[in-house]
Amino acid sequence: MINLVLFGPPGAGKGTQAFKLKEHFNLVHISTGDMLRSEIKSETKLGMEAQSIMNAGKLVPDEVVIGMIENQINENSNANGFIFDGFPRTTVQAEALDALLKKHKTSISLMLSLEVEDDELLRRLLLRGKDSGRADDMDQQIISARIQEYNNKTAPLINYYKAQEKYCAIRGIGAIEDIFLNLVLEVERIK
Ligand code: AMP
Repeated sequence: MINLVLFGPPGAGKGTQAFKLKEHFNLVHISTGDMLRSEIKSETKLGMEAQSIMNAGKLVPDEVVIGMIENQINENSNANGFIFDGFPRTTVQAEALDALLKKHKTSISLMLSLEVEDDELLRRLLLRGKDSGRADDMDQQIISARIQEYNNKTAPLINYYKAQEKYCAIRGIGAIEDIFLNLVLEVERIK
């Protein structure tokens, strides 16, 4: 199995590249952000609870997203592998993911970290907000809160995966196809 964590700040291009990697390596794409937005759209209890947290640019509680991931892993036990997009975002989530995969006798193969500077992230997110209508992409204050959450709670995961010798940094600026090619090359190296 190939299990990838696609990592990076909001606006780094995780969604775009996760979709391409999923197609290329025949993986199951798991995006906690997409799952939460779908809960909001369906107006579920979970969605309603998550909405105000997401619109404040904060992280939803660990147990909520870990539960969602557990369901997805259990439902796709025959998968060729997984690509995790926007998860894990805290050390508690990373530890839970390792434990879940261990139960299924597998593990994370590589953490691919898309590196993009803050001013470029802000530019991209405001642009995306205009097209997608995503509330958390349209307001500069919410974007700043998300980047702050990333720096405080999520960026430390770089050291978590470095300690496991799974961290791999990729420059996330340039043509989408060039970035994709660099990601594929890194995955090919560990196959
Ligand atoms: P994303 O689409 O990955 O940018 O996520 C949008 C929002 O969903 C984030 O700003 C968080 O509020 C929430 N979210 C998504 N994934 C997670 C996660 N793994 N842990 C906590 N909150 C999350």
